[in-house]
Amino acid sequence: MKLKCNVCGYIYDPETGDPDGDVRPGTYFDNLPLDWVCPDCGASQDIFEIIDDDFEEEGGEEDE
Ligand SMILES: [Zn+2]
Repeated sequence: MKLKCNVCGYIYDPETGDPDGDVRPGTYFDNLPLDWVCPDCGASQDIFEIIDDDFEEEGGEEDE
């Protein structure tokens, strides 16, 4: 399960973690340190929203 920052669009992927933020790969969002914030914009964790696994972050265009 990935999560997206609603402020800047950063995607947190548990498989990747956040090496720059000292978060090891395989760390689920629930297990992040409480003081972890978005590495791109500094938003707090409650800004993040869950995105579906089948959500394509690139090339995905919505039909309207
Ligand atoms: Zn952000």
